[in-house]
Amino acid sequence: MAETIFTKIINKEIPADIVYEDDWCLAFRDINPRAPVHILIIPKKAMAQLNDAESGDRELLGHIMLAVNRVAEKEGVADAYRLVLNNGAGAGQEIFHMHFHLLAGRPFSWPPG
Ligand code: AMP
Repeated sequence: MAETIFTKIINKEIPADIVYEDDWCLAFRDINPRAPVHILIIPKKAMAQLNDAESGDRELLGHIMLAVNRVAEKEGVADAYRLVLNNGAGAGQEIFHMHFHLLAGRPFSWPPG
């Protein structure tokens, strides 16, 4: 997988507003927030998009879901948040290091745009 700006954030080569970190994942505030709370949760393992995940990533993916909950609790938004993953350019993915967007703090419409 080609390196992205998120690799540099993981390696602390460029700054980010990190809100949670453990051995497997990292969460930091989006530089262009689309909601009062907008945090990106990424695996430290290089994976371009969710579609690249394999059965060996089962534990990692479950771990990230639980990390999302921890971040939401830390941010005080566990009661109402939206979790978004853009898989592929056609779905709006711009950075090809898999990431979840945790959005909260405003009303959300459905279906999403
Ligand atoms: P996506 O379109 O799903 O690939 O989302 C990429 C997200 O990364 C966008 O919401 C950007 O605002 C965000 N982003 C890009 N560069 C940075 C950065 N250096 N620090 C934090 N967020 C970033």
